[in-house]
Amino acid sequence: MVHHAKNLLAAEGIRAVVKNEMLSSAMGELPPAECQAELWVLTENDAVRAEEILHAKKEAGPDWTCGCGEKLGAQFTQCWRCGAYRA
Ligand SMILES: [Zn+2]
Repeated sequence: MVHHAKNLLAAEGIRAVVKNEMLSSAMGELPPAECQAELWVLTENDAVRAEEILHAKKEAGPDWTCGCGEKLGAQFTQCWRCGAYRA
């Protein structure tokens, strides 16, 4: 999940690193909340945009394919090709 988010940011030109990844496998005695991998944006200026991107992706969900076969991004609710609405 964290790596997926990292890839999303990378696609937008935002560099981020995953932290705590080693920890989760090495430190068995830590509670689960402490072990979860975290995504850190390297540039502070990117942090707000990164949050927006990840939030938008979460809201929109996955891409969808129209009945006519057109592939559309999750932000679209209507097919631009045939005009059909998302089921
Ligand atoms: Zn269509």
